Amino acid sequence: MFSRSAFRAAKPLRMQARRFATETGSAAAKPAAAAPKAAAPPPPPPPASGGNGLVYILGAAAVGGGGYYYYSQGSAAPKQPAKPAFTGGDQGFLSLKLAEVTDENHNTKRFRFELPEKDMVPGLPIASAVLTKFKGEKDAKATLRPYTPINDENESGYVELLVKKYPGGPMSTHIFDLQPGQTLDIKGPLPKYAWTENKHDHIGLIAGGTGITPMFQLARGIFKNSNDKTKITLVFGNVAKQDILLQKELAELENTYPQRFRAFYVLDSAPKDWQGTTGYITKDLLKTVLPEPKSENIKIFVCGPPGLMKAISGPKVSPKDQGELTGALSDLGYNKDQVYKF
Ligand SMILES: Cc1cc2nc3c(=O)[nH]c(=O)nc-3n(C[C@H](O)[C@H](O)[C@H](O)COP(=O)(O)OP(=O)(O)OC[C@H]3O[C@@H](n4cnc5c(N)ncnc54)[C@H](O)[C@@H]3O)c2cc1C
Repeated sequence: MFSRSAFRAAKPLRMQARRFATETGSAAAKPAAAAPKAAAPPPPPPPASGGNGLVYILGAAAVGGGGYYYYSQGSAAPKQPAKPAFTGGDQGFLSLKLAEVTDENHNTKRFRFELPEKDMVPGLPIASAVLTKFKGEKDAKATLRPYTPINDENESGYVELLVKKYPGGPMSTHIFDLQPGQTLDIKGPLPKYAWTENKHDHIGLIAGGTGITPMFQLARGIFKNSNDKTKITLVFGNVAKQDILLQKELAELENTYPQRFRAFYVLDSAPKDWQGTTGYITKDLLKTVLPEPKSENIKIFVCGPPGLMKAISGPKVSPKDQGELTGALSDLGYNKDQVYKF
């Protein structure tokens, strides 16, 4: 998958520009089961119908806040209502038991927490996060940090966080120290960008490191909803190849829905055989791959470490204040309303 994405990004970047594959092409919707394992990417498959290696995705019912959710989304789905675990308002924190921990890479793990009842679903609206809380014995006050769950909002039984460990970082260290059976206080939703189907024709996702989690949530929600035709271009920057998160999930989306999704991977420090872009995410790259600022009804989402935010869009001032648009996106002619900082 990455070799394929990288291949696209490296060679035909200028030629691809902002073009997408023919959406009516037959390449769409290959079964997910055919997706390759990210750990051993296959050689690039023949180009999709448009020949420019574009990847598109189809989507799922974006969940709304509150209300009931359904276990399955197929047309023959049993219409069994499922209760959302995170209902917001005065619900407060849920003390959720850690069920399972899985390594993602050298500094990031997946933490799966059990919802209070087995048939509950997270039920988070897209896009939103959850808030975690922890107060150590010697701490004067609690540490609070937001995380974006990576499992399906309609999946029953658990909520899964992808957490990168920061040496000395209180919350990530605490979560990494948790043993299965121990609990973490989590509440939600923390609403971010309220998505409704076809809200935009084309969106650009610019992510660095764990900034991929809200992007993945948004993309997954869009592509699961068969009524949603939004096109997505992802630009994902990381330090090194082993830092690229959610490789398997992104590969599955690429291979399952090759008509509406383009992904470009950028590494600060690339191995010799890397066929993607090397260095930082540049204005030139963004100009080449993102929907143009003059296009109607587009939106560019940005999420990543402070350096990336500063260079691409300018920082977010607070959860309620997006701050001014500066950096590469401003230089390229995008206006503040066309950009959302997670
Ligand atoms: C809406 C939202 C969603 C988030 N979702 C996730 C997620 O899904 N997974 C995840 O691992 N993190 C996510 N984060 C970041 C997370 O909330 C914490 O900031 C992070 O885990 C560090 O917390 P800490 O208490 O361990 O360390 P802190 O004391 O907060 O930070 C330790 C050091 O790391 C730096 N740092 C903090 N966050 C970042 C970052 N994102 N990139 C680079 N440097 C950073 C700090 O500047 C500091 O130097 C999200 C943040 C926001 C605002």
